[in-house]
Amino acid sequence: TSATGAPLSRTQADPPPRRFGDAVIEARDLHKSYGTTPVLRGVDLDVRQGEVVALLGPSGSGKSTLLRTLNHLEGLNGGSVLIDGEPIGYDLRGAELSERTIARQRVSSGVGMVFQQFNLFTHLTVRENVAGPLRWVHGVGKAEADTRADELLAMVGLSDRADARPRQLSGGQQQRVGIARALAGNPRVLLLDEPTSALDPERVAEVLAVIRRLATESGLTMVIATHQLRFAREVADRVAFLRDGVIVEQGPAAQIFDAPEQPATRRFMRSMA
Ligand code: ADP
Ligand code: MG
Repeated sequence: TSATGAPLSRTQADPPPRRFGDAVIEARDLHKSYGTTPVLRGVDLDVRQGEVVALLGPSGSGKSTLLRTLNHLEGLNGGSVLIDGEPIGYDLRGAELSERTIARQRVSSGVGMVFQQFNLFTHLTVRENVAGPLRWVHGVGKAEADTRADELLAMVGLSDRADARPRQLSGGQQQRVGIARALAGNPRVLLLDEPTSALDPERVAEVLAVIRRLATESGLTMVIATHQLRFAREVADRVAFLRDGVIVEQGPAAQIFDAPEQPATRRFMRSMA
């Protein structure tokens, strides 16, 4: 099974056209604490349509927390997130929202998520993992959801494993299912949380190949937390460096890699070299 499957397509009911350069994510002054421990301490992040942003930073700097607040998998203690101009996790009039309303916002915001540990449904087949959320969350009928799942599995090079269970797959294959599942709802933005960190070294390349194709061929807006610096440099339009819950430096990939201004960024780059 190769990672270079069928051509990429975004053929399902496309959302209204957006222009390259429109803001897709506008995160302002995000604050998040666990108990009394502050984890995000005033993060601002804008991501434009079609942009690929790499989120770098040491372990514990808040990368996962930041990604999870963008999707409102974690609530905020302060600040705001707009996805395509729509609030998520709160109401523009400041009203308290029910979990149900937040869940609806999360679906309509169209933020797909790829997790470090894949988070596949172990009791479902590969095809069901991809088709299931389309049916349960997006109300797509079974036949159409299965067709869409098979297209996506072809795209990630897993057509021949559609009827397998996740545990019968390698880590790299499981993560490719995770990517197919995240794409099923035709997201406006895809968040990837260290998508290759849980993989054996020999399985990293096949997953990076799929993400690289998404970045270069589909025009999908992406935020990727990663420790794969060479990959980040290659695919990212912009790099944001997070440390202790603050983005200490961000800019074009070449600038952050070749001429970081902040000592913390320089130290990090040296330590990873
Ligand atoms: P990163 O992804 O950059 O490694 P995280 O966002 O996972 O960073 O974690 C940032 C900090 O928040 C760490 O100190 C971590 O221990 C803490 N943290 C993360 N999730 C939780 C949680 N659910 N409860 C308590 N502390 C947490
Ligand atoms: Mg993390």
